[in-house]
Amino acid sequence: MNSENLISLKPYNTFGLDVSCTELHTVDSRESLESLIEVGIFERNPKIISGGSNLLLTANIAQPVLLNRIKGNRIQEETEEHIIIEFGAGESWHDSVLHAVANNWGGMENLSLIPGCMGAAPIQNIGAYGIELKDIFHELKAFHILKVNIILST
Ligand SMILES: Cc1cc2nc3c(=O)[nH]c(=O)nc-3n(C[C@H](O)[C@H](O)[C@H](O)COP(=O)(O)OP(=O)(O)OC[C@H]3O[C@@H](n4cnc5c(N)ncnc54)[C@H](O)[C@@H]3O)c2cc1C
Repeated sequence: MNSENLISLKPYNTFGLDVSCTELHTVDSRESLESLIEVGIFERNPKIISGGSNLLLTANIAQPVLLNRIKGNRIQEETEEHIIIEFGAGESWHDSVLHAVANNWGGMENLSLIPGCMGAAPIQNIGAYGIELKDIFHELKAFHILKVNIILST
């Protein structure tokens, strides 16, 4: 790696390890992700970082790094019995729990104070105090990376 082009990932992992990459992209919308897909980013096996709280970065990263910072939340469906809320993958998990509690929406509260972002929660199936994400999870909108690779390579 050319040391002149190194970008420190220290601010993006909670261990504060001063590991570097040479290419860092912030994804803050579906469109910004689609732009990266168009230029073939997933052919280069990018490393995705959200809150960086479940990563131990032990060496510089040669491939591109994507920081997921897609924000926002909105009510998708509300009935007498349940409410479905859509959160951006880059939202803080704990802030989202606080948002739910402030609005009197039950279900997430046992999972408060878990570090990290919304988008990593289903990847990890986070859990605490007898609740796992799978118990309250409805659906996930995601890009199928393997399919993207196939589409880009044919
Ligand atoms: C002090 C402490 C307490 C914790 N307590 C708990 C606990 O009680 N329960 C629990 O379940 N976990 C706990 N964890 C673990 C951690 O909080 C969770 O694993 C959390 O989901 C990690 O989120 P993150 O955004 O920091 O993920 P990151 O560390 O950024 O990423 C974790 C993994 O998921 C991948 N990833 C992240 N975002 C995406 C995405 N949008 N799309 C695809 N892949 C993605 C990354 O590439 C990486 O492989 C704790 C961690 C710490 C440091």
